[in-house]
Amino acid sequence: MANTDTHTLLRSIPAVEELLNAPWAVEFSAGMGREYVKKAIVQALDGIRGEIGGGAHAKTELGALAAGRAAALLRQKSSSTLKRVINATGVVIHTNTGRAPLAREALQAVSDIASTYSTLEYSPEKGGREGRNTHIEWLICHITGAQAAIVVNNNAAAVLLALAATASGREVIVSNGELVEIGDSFRIPEILSFSGATMVAVGCTNSTRIADYRNAITEKTAVLLKVHPSNYRIEGFVASTSREELKELAASHGLAFIEDLGSGLLCPLGVPFAHFEHSVRDCLEAGAGAVTFSGDKLLGGPQIGVIAGSKQLVDAMRSHQLLRALRVDKMTLAAFEATLRMYASGKQGEIPVIRMIEADKDTLQKKAQQLCRTLKERAKTAGADDVTIAVVQTADATGGGAFPTNTFEGAGVSIHSAARSAESIAAAFRTGPVPVIAGVRDGRVVLHVRTLLDGDEKTIACAFAGILGGAG
Ligand SMILES: *Cc1c(COP(=O)(O)O)cnc(C)c1O
Repeated sequence: MANTDTHTLLRSIPAVEELLNAPWAVEFSAGMGREYVKKAIVQALDGIRGEIGGGAHAKTELGALAAGRAAALLRQKSSSTLKRVINATGVVIHTNTGRAPLAREALQAVSDIASTYSTLEYSPEKGGREGRNTHIEWLICHITGAQAAIVVNNNAAAVLLALAATASGREVIVSNGELVEIGDSFRIPEILSFSGATMVAVGCTNSTRIADYRNAITEKTAVLLKVHPSNYRIEGFVASTSREELKELAASHGLAFIEDLGSGLLCPLGVPFAHFEHSVRDCLEAGAGAVTFSGDKLLGGPQIGVIAGSKQLVDAMRSHQLLRALRVDKMTLAAFEATLRMYASGKQGEIPVIRMIEADKDTLQKKAQQLCRTLKERAKTAGADDVTIAVVQTADATGGGAFPTNTFEGAGVSIHSAARSAESIAAAFRTGPVPVIAGVRDGRVVLHVRTLLDGDEKTIACAFAGILGGAG
């Protein structure tokens, strides 16, 4: 019986041609062409066929279902899927949501350079070629105290290049406590093997001493590598080796001491737990021969990877073939140079990431109160008396591989509905025209204000009104 039903249902699916001639399809075709619309219809019908095979759907609904699916697919494909979201999570730097939002100055620099010809690799003085690194090297050296610096696409590339140029075919000694995995793809052992170096892991998970490094040195050793434990912290009985000790050991054996710092902190942050993070300058002064770090984490610039350090080490990386494959494009360079200039002129407090991290309690509290008032008004207008809205204290975080176990006090607005689960409200916020990503805590939606940018409150209020007016 079920079989006959399935066959009947499959035969009742509207024909592609029929759907193509419907008014909504004709309208889409006018903009995108018939083939484009046909493709969406075929995809929608295939989906429905599969579901019927699985026992779903009734005959009467097939026509509307097919039209609805195809139109929804076309609407989805007619706008960009890479689009703005509102980050109301209180986590300042998150890889999934694009890490650091750029400063206005950086944006201006991109816009000035992107649509024109530029001095990317050209020196007007020489009338000829000049390396693209020259635009930022001087600034990086000025800010970090390094002798030389180069940039590549991201920090993973920086680590890869640094190791390939200094240790390919030789051995790199690294602590077992620092075999880090970042995100879902950056793993120190794999990057090391990719660079052509052989990893020699020493010490224990919680304790590695200078003698462990010393005992592992052979005539094949090229590098002592230190890696920032970006997303975890080992607590309890812990011993790690200082940069000063590593520097001395490296120097006495003619080895390079390289540190993967991860998040590129350029100057101390105004947070209570600031002492947990070392700046690039600190690491270089304490003895690292070269430091690698990201441009779009704590630094607050575009996605880029920096290698800063001694002239000898950086020059070895500069002349390595791999640099050509990892080189940075003009828009990134423009944004990065503008961001670095903000540091050089003492204006780093205006970089969005730094501003959000350093936002004081009073400012956050006021922002939360304002958002709370706005949302309450919207609830009142919508007659939503099942909804309770209040200002709450939040636990915010920097993210971006810095201070992995520290949260700091922030403020936010909680939304609770007697009629609807917090998860379903959060999902409605996420799937609006501008996705709003909020937290859920104790059966309440929580909008953290620390990570809201100018204009976000207004968009949140509109989204909220839509949610209240919708399937409430
Ligand atoms: C984030 C991080 C990386 C990877 O940097 P990307 O800029 O994402 O490529 C590498 N090492 C450490 C220690 C990190 O924190």
